[in-house]
Amino acid sequence: MTTHYDVIIIGSGAGGGTLFHALAPTGKRILLLERGDYVPREKDNWSTRAVNLEGKYNTCEEWRDADGAVLHPHTNYCVGGNTKFYGAALFRLRREDFGELKHRGGVSPAWPIAYEDLEPYYTRAERLYQVHGARGVDPTDPPASAPYPHPPVSHEPRIQELSDDFARLGLRPFHVPLGVMLDEKDPRASRCIRCDTCDGHPCIVGAKSDAQVLCVDPALASHRNATLRTRARVARLETSATGREVKRVVVERDGAVEIYSADVVVVSAGAINSAALLLRSASDRHPRGLANGSDVVGRHYMGHVNSVLMALSKCPNPTVFQKTLALNDFYFGSPDWDYPMGHISFVGKLDAYTLRAGAPAIAPGWTLELMARHSLDFWLTSEDLPDPENRVTLDREGNIVLAYRPNNEEAHARLTAALKGLMQQQTRCSVHGHDCHQGLFARNLFLGQRIPLAGVAHQNGTVRFGHDARTSALDVNCRAHELDNLYVVDASVFPSSAAVNPALTIMANALRVGDHLRERLG
Ligand SMILES: Cc1cc2nc3c(=O)[nH]c(=O)nc-3n(C[C@H](O)[C@H](O)[C@H](O)COP(=O)(O)OP(=O)(O)OC[C@H]3O[C@@H](n4cnc5c(N)ncnc54)[C@H](O)[C@@H]3O)c2cc1C
Ligand code: SF4
Repeated sequence: MTTHYDVIIIGSGAGGGTLFHALAPTGKRILLLERGDYVPREKDNWSTRAVNLEGKYNTCEEWRDADGAVLHPHTNYCVGGNTKFYGAALFRLRREDFGELKHRGGVSPAWPIAYEDLEPYYTRAERLYQVHGARGVDPTDPPASAPYPHPPVSHEPRIQELSDDFARLGLRPFHVPLGVMLDEKDPRASRCIRCDTCDGHPCIVGAKSDAQVLCVDPALASHRNATLRTRARVARLETSATGREVKRVVVERDGAVEIYSADVVVVSAGAINSAALLLRSASDRHPRGLANGSDVVGRHYMGHVNSVLMALSKCPNPTVFQKTLALNDFYFGSPDWDYPMGHISFVGKLDAYTLRAGAPAIAPGWTLELMARHSLDFWLTSEDLPDPENRVTLDREGNIVLAYRPNNEEAHARLTAALKGLMQQQTRCSVHGHDCHQGLFARNLFLGQRIPLAGVAHQNGTVRFGHDARTSALDVNCRAHELDNLYVVDASVFPSSAAVNPALTIMANALRVGDHLRERLG
């Protein structure tokens, strides 16, 4: 068995899977190490009970919070990483997100690259992940060098009504850029069937633009130099005597230890696991953890300030695929609030099983089934600011400890209030006719539920890149300041979290680092 490779990539999600695809055509020997296996294709993929209530595909790993309480992280170890389960909302960060932004809760620091540096890679990532969208409607849309490769996914009637109402109120609602292989012009040929179990579920028919379907599998099919090893958990990275390069990648696989080596080693295990791996790889040369002379590894953990907000109405909401509408009008503030608030969009349509998993307070006079049938299920995101005390550390056994104190909560409260205000001004209802409108929204109930710490879906920031080796772990090419052959390409590298979903930025940055590595490999 060959154990030396040109490149080893650890983790096959948004970052690692995309990089694997980018490097496979070089002809170099590339090894992708993934601790999980393929998600089995089975009916349970689309069962909300199995996925959301029973957590069938979640890791069983236990982490701890700062007080030692057990956390069951809502994260997935599998080929394709969390993109197998994501909602495929594929946003670019706003141009301003790359600069310093003042928030009420603190400062969002600048990135070491500008939006313009990443723009060509965003365009490439949108093509690779087959994003459907429309430019220029979202008032915060950054400039783009090409249109979206596919038209936007249409709204169903209830969502279109809401969009019209928002527009009537002077807002600029827009279509969420989505990575689903939907052809609305030719439904019989369309790979995507527009179902109600997309967000949070794997796609049985392989129509979601995830890293397994679009990157890992095609790279393996076309390039014999590209190899995937599943169930291969990287336990440690060991360096040469000088400490300047990673020499050995120590893998636990099916109860045995395997050792690999490579000219270049890329860590892409997700922000929490990448930090944990570097910390676990501490040695005499790197006593605080690999690449951690700055002591930033594991710090500045961010996860977004997120809420699911159900707007209940007398009218049912029969929408099947709900996640098509978004609002960024409050992203940078509003006329009466000078600070950024965040982003409003939707989660996939909630049902009673999913609600049961979150155990929300039941609105008086409602059952969970009824609530699910009558709710519009908003997803609100405000920026989480990088706090050095919000961090990943290890306990004595090497298990993950996640310490987190929420911040920027006033921005989120303002965003929530803004949405409540908008919903109270709704006037149209196509299901019950006009008579329904007046009383309908006066009787709305809003049940805010903050996503708990175990919901680490948008984890980022723990191995930040930057110009200064004293305040960052990685240089501008995402190479460790202190090691010649170690790179990181997942969400860890984010210096700030912005307030839109992270995956497209991870993918675009992986393509950018891929270009650098192609040059380096010659
Ligand atoms: C339910 C859900 C919905 C989401 N919806 C959206 C959305 O709509 N839009 C969006 O932009 N983002 C969304 N996200 C977030 C998005 O999926 C993540 O931001 C993205 O997948 C992170 O990419 P990554 O490469 O950093 O890590 P991951 O995709 O998590 O990949 C990390 C990989 O590393 C592997 N790994 C970990 N440790 C090791 C180890 N020691 N050895 C070997 N392999 C290891 C893991 O098994 C995993 O496959 C969602 C996430 C979830 C869970
Ligand atoms: S068929 Fe379409 S909507 Fe359903 S899970 Fe697959 S990609 Fe998502």
